[in-house]
Amino acid sequence: MQINDENRCSGCSACALACPAGCIEMKLSEEGFLRPCIDASKCLNCGLCRRICIYGGNRAKPLDSGTLYSAYAADSGLRGSSSSGGVAAVMARQAIGEGSFVCGAVYDLAGQCPRHTVCSSLQQAEALQGSKYLQSRCREGFAELIAKLRQNSAAEAVVFATPCQVAGLDAVLTQFGLRQRVILIDNFCHGVPTYLLWQRYLEELERNRHIPAESIEKVTFRDKRISWHRYYMHISGGGRNYCEPTARDSFLSVFTGYMVNQRECLDCRFRNASAADVRLGDFWGRRYRGTEKGYSMMLVLTEAGKKFCDRLDGIERMEVPVEERKGQQHEDYPFPRFYDRTIAMLKAGEMPERILELYVPERRRKQKRLRSWFSTDLLKYLKYRNKQ
Ligand SMILES: Cc1cc2nc3c(=O)[nH]c(=O)nc-3n(C[C@H](O)[C@H](O)[C@H](O)COP(=O)(O)OP(=O)(O)OC[C@H]3O[C@@H](n4cnc5c(N)ncnc54)[C@H](O)[C@@H]3O)c2cc1C
Ligand code: SF4
Ligand code: SF4
Ligand code: SF4
Repeated sequence: MQINDENRCSGCSACALACPAGCIEMKLSEEGFLRPCIDASKCLNCGLCRRICIYGGNRAKPLDSGTLYSAYAADSGLRGSSSSGGVAAVMARQAIGEGSFVCGAVYDLAGQCPRHTVCSSLQQAEALQGSKYLQSRCREGFAELIAKLRQNSAAEAVVFATPCQVAGLDAVLTQFGLRQRVILIDNFCHGVPTYLLWQRYLEELERNRHIPAESIEKVTFRDKRISWHRYYMHISGGGRNYCEPTARDSFLSVFTGYMVNQRECLDCRFRNASAADVRLGDFWGRRYRGTEKGYSMMLVLTEAGKKFCDRLDGIERMEVPVEERKGQQHEDYPFPRFYDRTIAMLKAGEMPERILELYVPERRRKQKRLRSWFSTDLLKYLKYRNKQ
């Protein structure tokens, strides 16, 4: 069954959350993305999934109506262990301190995937820190949060998710009359890659670095202790550590090269619009080119978002012209030349390194890897590459 007229889907899970018959499950598609699967035998033909779908309509507003800040966590530990300025961690702490639930993505070692989880303590919320560059399994976490909000009419929450997930959740919360009790926070987002890439990458890691998936204890998609501007993948387990920058890491190279992101990410509907109260991102661009500490873009989009951000205890912030976000963030990008071939190769068990060969000649890849050593802060690299 086609859920919207355009037959588009980014796996936001709103249809599955809203379905009164509970007959929609989110499963990995052949291409390795979460997609709704309907059990037609239980379907009531009520049409709610179609009405709620973000590709049928959504309440996203243009970003230009917001107020932009450059911001970072005053606590240097929080800032250092986050992906950009650590503002999300301060927000999560503030919400927990105020007695709200916090829902965000943790890395689930059992499933080897990010998964949305509801937190009610500071200790639980620590695992939310850091961007996990894969499609998070959000349906169960969102459903748990909705149940908690329904059980207690005084309960409130703060949710962190990608813009399409937020647009879907915004629609569901509005449908259930719960939207006023939730602060929705999304992020500037250039996309999510197929799980096929992650599965093959984990196999490559086992083969080349002797870290089997079942031994993994920690995955950091961006280890900012070494650099903010250059992404470092850090994976540890079984007494071994793997830590390499984009130029020497096949997952980050394929992901940041937009080679196998889901189709909906190429011309994302939420790149310049949002249904959130606040949008976060990295403050890329000239302003902070010379520092590795990490600064966040904090774009306040609604009155509720403004009130929440004004209460934040523990961030340093400075208002900047809203136009400054332009040119620093990703724009739409073309359909990758070898997309179908890449998906077929990954399905057939080919390693991510082989995908790179399709796009970048061997000589250029070698040069890139060599050059990456010159831009590596060797002291920090040696200090942190063997530390969890
Ligand atoms: C898939 C993805 C793509 C991104 N693309 C860009 C981009 O193009 N430009 C840009 O400036 N910023 C991008 N970001 C956001 C950026 O990585 C930082 O999250 C943001 O700058 C906030 O940083 P922070 O230090 O405040 O918080 P962080 O420590 O990064 O934590 C932010 C929050 O993100 C949530 N989160 C982590 N992973 C996921 C996930 N897979 N799905 C849903 N929620 C998640 C966590 O719950 C956490 O609360 C992206 C993030 C993701 C997850
Ligand atoms: S039509 Fe109604 S019952 Fe059927 S899948 Fe959609 S929401 Fe569920
Ligand atoms: S509501 Fe979300 S998951 Fe469901 S079809 Fe639409 S985009 Fe896909
Ligand atoms: S780029 Fe758009 S469609 Fe893709 S994950 Fe991000 S918000 Fe969703």
